[in-house]
Amino acid sequence: MTSPENSSTDFIRAIVQEDLASNKYEGRVVTRFPPEPNGYLHIGHAKSICLNFGVASEYSGGVCHLRFDDTNPLREDVEYINSIQEDVRWLGFDWGQHLYYASDYFDALYAFAEQLIADGKAYVDSLSADEIREYRGTLTEPGKESPYRKRPVEENLDLFRRMRDGEFEDGAHVLRARIDMASPNLNMRDPTIYRIRRAHHHRTGDKWCIYPMYDYAHALSDSIEHITHSLCTLEFEDHRPLYDWTLEALDVYRSQQIEFARLNLTNTVMSKRRLLQLVEGGHVSGWDDPRMPTISGLRRRGYTPAAIKTFCEHVGISKRDTVVSMALLEHCIREDLNRHAPRVMAVLNPLKVVITNYPEDKVQEFDAVNNPEDPAMGTRKVPFSRVVYIERDDFREDPPSRFFRLAPGREVRLRYACYITCQEVIRDPETGEITELHCTYDPESVGGSTPDGRRVRGTLHWVSAPHSLEAEVRLYDYLMMDTNDEGEEDGRDFISRLNPDSLQVLSGCRIEPCLAEAGRGDRFQFERQGYFCVDSLDSEPGAPVFNRTVSLRDSWARIEQSQGRSGVA
Ligand code: ATP
Ligand code: MG
Repeated sequence: MTSPENSSTDFIRAIVQEDLASNKYEGRVVTRFPPEPNGYLHIGHAKSICLNFGVASEYSGGVCHLRFDDTNPLREDVEYINSIQEDVRWLGFDWGQHLYYASDYFDALYAFAEQLIADGKAYVDSLSADEIREYRGTLTEPGKESPYRKRPVEENLDLFRRMRDGEFEDGAHVLRARIDMASPNLNMRDPTIYRIRRAHHHRTGDKWCIYPMYDYAHALSDSIEHITHSLCTLEFEDHRPLYDWTLEALDVYRSQQIEFARLNLTNTVMSKRRLLQLVEGGHVSGWDDPRMPTISGLRRRGYTPAAIKTFCEHVGISKRDTVVSMALLEHCIREDLNRHAPRVMAVLNPLKVVITNYPEDKVQEFDAVNNPEDPAMGTRKVPFSRVVYIERDDFREDPPSRFFRLAPGREVRLRYACYITCQEVIRDPETGEITELHCTYDPESVGGSTPDGRRVRGTLHWVSAPHSLEAEVRLYDYLMMDTNDEGEEDGRDFISRLNPDSLQVLSGCRIEPCLAEAGRGDRFQFERQGYFCVDSLDSEPGAPVFNRTVSLRDSWARIEQSQGRSGVA
């Protein structure tokens, strides 16, 4: 048995260590990640995945099951099953042989239900859904017992079998656990464990017209798989007594449920219901839209598995609900890409510059460093010629006092190339728009030397006009203008809080010729602009599309400096 290399131990790892020390589960640690296949995985799921697979590999050589909690056929789909597996694998985790479906246990779950009935621990209730709700009582009032609660075992068994055989309409009866209608915990007031629902299941087809409820199915699935530590989010804390009751009543393997705080992030939404609404309403291009907090969206945006894992480590595991700043997630991908992404020059909003004293047909190649953080990444050649593009924002005709970039009569450095001085501004005679600049260069400054120690304050990125390639660049901003993911339940309100400027598409951008080789998913730093990756869907050879992963400005580093470190917004 190995102890974790990571010495930072959260309360869950502390429990696991204690259980190992006391030999509670004969030295076993088996966890599971149990998504419901009703949507794509999001960054919140990544937290749960890192925890479950992480704990398993740290303490037991890596047994973590992937189990699809497919007990609600109306909302589930194979598309989701496939995407979930792809996303877990992409994050770098492996369930080995241990891929399971709650639906594989439907026969077992049914048999357990008959056993509960036989033991007098469950009964068929024929109240309507509304009546059941009414009888349940409230937080301050105890519930009332259903008139059907005292049905004899034989009658319950007969009715339950006929429910299974399709003799009754949807909603005509339910099977309920017989626990305690006066319990202060509403979950213990005879919770429903089976309902009639004529729905086609993507795995079991039309075999069943009754389906088990989540709490019942989940506890027993854990038990069937001999899960030792069943890690779930805090909203299930009040369900734990039912979890324990179920396993005890049936005297089966006792898995242990432990709750932790879910991940909440600023400026996005994470409930799958809302994400689905965004997809179905056409507010985004799909589950993998780079603005989505989904794993597939983050992947397409240019995020790496390493950055997502680092983020989950930073956030940590606790019992307290917090909202984590999106700036922390961005900080994590910046740190990763800063070290690993090659740097190139790209001009997003080009302004033509003609260097009038540079020969028309001359081309020079300058050496550019691929990544100053990693000398092993080497250098490349960047072609230079008489006509280059610079960023339109890097020129001001009337520069304000702290503007150190190009202006009439002013000299700046073109990175890796030479010094240029702006001599003339050319305008469209009709519109007055600046169409090009005429500049001169200092031949003495070529290749990075500094003639007569002259100081030049601005350094601009650029590309050679005839050598550069055209590209589309997509800039993203936060999906949501604010942070309230829970809040009002009115769907329209949430849609109205979408950030209308979350996507900006720039066409006619000019990029360095070395990017002709870039393949889908490749990541770069565009100097002075941010980190970008080649879009995995829309990019074509000869017509590249780049997604901005994140800008260069690290607001998290600044927050950290001013407040000391904490993962909380
Ligand atoms: P949603 O509310 O978004 O629909 P869910 O909890 O219903 O999410 P499941 O597919 O049931 O989604 O979740 C699978 C696992 O991931 C569960 O164990 C759940 O606790 C965990 N999980 C879901 N969202 C988060 C989150 N934001 N932070 C941490 N864990 C999460
Ligand atoms: Mg769920």
